[in-house]
Amino acid sequence: MTQQYQIPVPAELPERIQHYIDGEFVDSADGDTFDVLNPVTNEAYIKAAAGKKADIDRAVEAAQRAFDEGSWSSALPRERSRVLHKIADIVEERGARLAELETFDTGLPITQARSQGRRAAENFRFFADLIVAQADDTFKVPGRQINYVNRKPIGVAGLITPWNTPFMLESWKLAPAIATGNSVVLKPAEFTPLSAGLWAGIFEEAGLPKGVFNLVNGIGEEAGDALVKHPEVPLISFTGESKTGQLIFGNAAPWLKGLSMELGGKSPAIVFADADLEAAINATIFGVFSLNGERCTAGSRILVERSIYDEFVERYAAQAKRVKVGFPHEPETEVGALVHPEHFEKVHSYVELGKTEGRLVAGGGRPEGFEQGNFIAPTVFADVPPEARIFQEEIFGPVVAITPFDTEEEALELANNTKYGLAAYVWTNDLKRSHNFAQAVEAGMVWLNSNNVRDLRTPFGGVKASGLGHEGGYRSIDFYTDQQAVHINLGEVHNPIFGKSKDA
Ligand code: NAD
Repeated sequence: MTQQYQIPVPAELPERIQHYIDGEFVDSADGDTFDVLNPVTNEAYIKAAAGKKADIDRAVEAAQRAFDEGSWSSALPRERSRVLHKIADIVEERGARLAELETFDTGLPITQARSQGRRAAENFRFFADLIVAQADDTFKVPGRQINYVNRKPIGVAGLITPWNTPFMLESWKLAPAIATGNSVVLKPAEFTPLSAGLWAGIFEEAGLPKGVFNLVNGIGEEAGDALVKHPEVPLISFTGESKTGQLIFGNAAPWLKGLSMELGGKSPAIVFADADLEAAINATIFGVFSLNGERCTAGSRILVERSIYDEFVERYAAQAKRVKVGFPHEPETEVGALVHPEHFEKVHSYVELGKTEGRLVAGGGRPEGFEQGNFIAPTVFADVPPEARIFQEEIFGPVVAITPFDTEEEALELANNTKYGLAAYVWTNDLKRSHNFAQAVEAGMVWLNSNNVRDLRTPFGGVKASGLGHEGGYRSIDFYTDQQAVHINLGEVHNPIFGKSKDA
C-alpha cells in the first residue's frame, strides 16, 4: 500500500512489546510475536510478544508467589492506599505520553484519549480512598454471639480487557483488584497492546512489590484462554464481546471461578416530544460518535416520538455531517480511525447493510479525503424497523439507527427489543414518566436527560446479554474479596446434646 498520510510517530517507541512478569520485561517462552497495526495506515508498526500457556503459567506462578509472600496481600489498607494514590499521580503526570501512545495505537482522537487517561488516574484514586474507608459488617446477638466479616483478598485475579479505551478499561480492573490485596495477571487486547506496557514503570515507581502485577500479551484464544483455564486463577474479570463472554463462562465452569463480565450493548436513547431537543441532539450525537462509536454504552439506537421525529432526524443528520473526522493526533478531530482493518470491514459491512434496511441521511462510507485506513463518516439511518439487523446487532462504530414511536408503551417495547441491556438514555421533562420509564427499561444503567456521566460509586454492569454481575464502588471490592463469616459464642454452648441416652 502506498503511504499517503504523513502522521507523527511517537518518539522512543519500544523495540518490541514484551510481557512483564515478576518485575521483568520478557519475550514469550517460544519467542513468538504478532504484528500490531497503525490504524491510520494499517501498516504493522511494531511486534508484540504472543503469549501462550507457558507464559501464562509463569505469570501466574509469579503472582501467586507475591501473594503468598504477603508484603502486598497483608499490607495495611493505608499502606496500599498510599501506593494507589502515587499510581494515580504518576498516571496524571504521564498523561500526555499516555494519550500520545493510546491515540497512535487505537485511532482514538487525542482529546478523548487525554480524558480517558484522567479517568484511569481517577479510578486509582477512588479505590485508594475506598479501601481506607472500608467497614465490614458485625452483628451482635446480645449475650449470645458476635458475628463479624473477615474480608480477605482472594489470590491471583485474571483480567482480560478489550481494545476500546484500553488503558482506562485496564485501570478499571487493576485498581480494585490491587487495592484489595490481590495479585494480577493482565491480558490486554491484541489489537492495542502498546499502552499496557506503561503500567510496569508506573507500578514500579509507585512502590508496588514485584510480582503483584504481571502482564501477558497475546491472542485471546491462546493467552486469554490459558488464563481462563489456569487452575490457580480463581477470579476472571472480563470485558469484551458477549459471545466471547459466553465462551469464557463455559471454559471457567469446571473450576467454578468467580466471574465478572462487562459485555456488549445496543443501548437506546429515547427522546420524548417534551424533551429539551437541543440538549438531546447534542448528547445523542456525542453518545454514539465519541470514542469513534467504539463504546460499549453508545446510544446506538435513537427512538424518537413521532410528533418531533422529522425535525429531530433533519437536525440530527445535519449535525452528524458536521462532526469532524480527522487524523487521531489532531486536536480538532472528533472521530478518528477505527481500531483495525478487520473491525473497519465489520462496521463497513453494517453501513452497506443499513442502506437496505433504513433510510441513509448522513455518512454512509468513507469520508472524503480518507481513502486509506479505517475511517468511516458518522453515519445515520432513519426509519429503521426493529427487526433490522442494524437495530438489533452491536456495530461498535460511528453508526446510529433512528426509529419513530407513537406511545410510551411502544417506546418501552422498542427499547427492550434487543438481546442486550447495558445502558439507556431517556429524554423527557415529565417527572413521573422519566422515573417510570427508567425503572421499566431493561438496562443495567439509565441516564435521565443526560449523556453517560459516571459516578464511580454506582454499580456498573448490564442485564441480559450485556453482562454478569456488577462492578463499581464497593461492588468491585466485593468481587475481588472473600467475605468470611466468623461466629463467636458469648454464652452457653447452644445446641441440643446428642448421644446422652443410656440405652444406646
Ligand atoms: P473481544 O471479546 O473480542 O476481546 C476482549 C478480550 O478477550 C481481548 O483481550 C481478547 O484477546 C480476549 N479473548 C478473546 N477470545 C478469548 C477467549 N476465547 N478466551 C479468553 N480471552 C479471549 O472484544 P473486543 O472486540 O476486544 O471489544 C469490543 C467489545 O467489548 C464490544 O462488544 C463492547 O461492547 C465490549 N465492551 C463492553 C464494555 C462494558 O463495560 N460492558 C466496555 C467496553 C467494551
